[in-house]
Amino acid sequence: MRKAKILATLGPASRTQPQIEAMLDAGISAVRINMSHGSRQEHLEAIANARAAAAKKKRALSILVDLAGPKIRTRNLKGHAPVELKPGASFIITTRDIEGDAAEVSTNFSELPSAVGPGTRILIDDGSIELRVEATNETDVIAKVVVGGWLNERKGINLPDTKLPIPSMTEKDHADLEWAMGQNVDYVALSFVRQAADCHQVKDLIQKMNTRPTGRALLVAKIEMAEAIKNLDEIVEATDGVMVARGDLGVETSVELVPIYQKQIIEKAIANDKFVITATQMLQSMIDSPSPTRAEASDIANAVWDGSDAVMLSAETATGSYPLEAIGTMARIIEAAETVKPAQLRRPVKFSLPPTGRTSQALCKAAALAAKEIMTEKVAVFTESGLMARRLSSVRSGLLTFGLTSSRDACNQLALIWGVDPYMHEYGGSTKQMLREGEKTLLKGGVVQSGETIIMMAGRLSGLGLSSSVIVWTIGEEIPKK
Ligand code: ATP
Ligand code: MG
Ligand code: MG
Repeated sequence: MRKAKILATLGPASRTQPQIEAMLDAGISAVRINMSHGSRQEHLEAIANARAAAAKKKRALSILVDLAGPKIRTRNLKGHAPVELKPGASFIITTRDIEGDAAEVSTNFSELPSAVGPGTRILIDDGSIELRVEATNETDVIAKVVVGGWLNERKGINLPDTKLPIPSMTEKDHADLEWAMGQNVDYVALSFVRQAADCHQVKDLIQKMNTRPTGRALLVAKIEMAEAIKNLDEIVEATDGVMVARGDLGVETSVELVPIYQKQIIEKAIANDKFVITATQMLQSMIDSPSPTRAEASDIANAVWDGSDAVMLSAETATGSYPLEAIGTMARIIEAAETVKPAQLRRPVKFSLPPTGRTSQALCKAAALAAKEIMTEKVAVFTESGLMARRLSSVRSGLLTFGLTSSRDACNQLALIWGVDPYMHEYGGSTKQMLREGEKTLLKGGVVQSGETIIMMAGRLSGLGLSSSVIVWTIGEEIPKK
């Protein structure tokens, strides 16, 4: 079974129930709704269709809502058609409400003319177009095109040399978060996080709006600013998980630093029991082509070897011409990469850290060592909120973790997590009942065979009979009387 998961952005190319069913067959475990694009109505439909598709395919599926954050963007173009900006040409970005063309385009950021001055660099579309400001007035920024290219609608604008006093959550983000919580989504991603306080604020809101009896939506801090790199320790501590948001990160810092940051962010996340998603341009060429470049194949494999829980597709699935091919390609690259054992690639972070004094760490490390000793890679963990399965995953010692839960929400949420195969399972009262039920679930799922020895595990709060236990268990074995 594949351990690194695929997170696919939904959009015009991938919003109907049959499309999402096909995407599930091709290998996705999670979908992303980007609040920067599309309408509320479209997002509602996408979520409903994703849930219906997962139910029909009897699959767990995580839903992640990505809050836009204070991203400065260009606005619409005449006839929604892309325009070409030629090097050396003059180009105006304006706060006037116009339909854009090759000479000028509107922006959603009303303070842009006062925030920049002659000489300021302006980057558009993850840095693919570069302008230099020549002059400004009340409403307009008059610039020269330095690096040209085709400009589509609603592309991001970055001002890498300019410090902007903007909060990481806008009014729209607040409204979108409330809406997302009302939809009972599994993950909420926050863009342009700069410090731990940004995470605390959103986590508090999530907790306040939480309606789940056990667990809650998990926060993903998108690491895409130089300031976030500087404050990485406190951000990782404050959040549930992170995203290596390479698009803006490459613009806000610089491209040659992205590979270094990627490794640092992933290692730090795993060492601190946080999940991590690697995102942006993973199969960029497959937006318009049915096959990937060799560099893209190599990039995905390396993101897997670095330890990503999930790798993400953006425009490849949202608007691209080959969404299913992109997913299938990604799945094949991950599978091949995973034939190389993690232990041969990375030092086992968890085992080299000083003791924490925490029961959960003791149990997870014990399970990993016991599994190695009896030569299985299978560990089944009873987990109501999903937390123990996530902890076990971050040991990253190659274990395949079966997360057994009676919570549909936890089951869906675990779909995104590295090495976790989640199952719905009846909650037995006594140890004996739980072990029997667990066994039945795994046999029914076809993931264990009678007579096979695996590890069974339960965290402190897992139930009446079975708590804080690591058990070497042979499927079908008689349970001894007490
Ligand atoms: P972010 O910074 O949050 O990643 P983005 O603009 O880069 O924002 P992505 O989700 O990464 O957006 O997708 C890349 C491109 O795919 C977008 O710029 C947009 O052109 C297109 N896209 C994505 N989702 C949608 C959608 N729901 N509707 C229309 N276009 C979309
Ligand atoms: Mg971004
Ligand atoms: Mg993007």
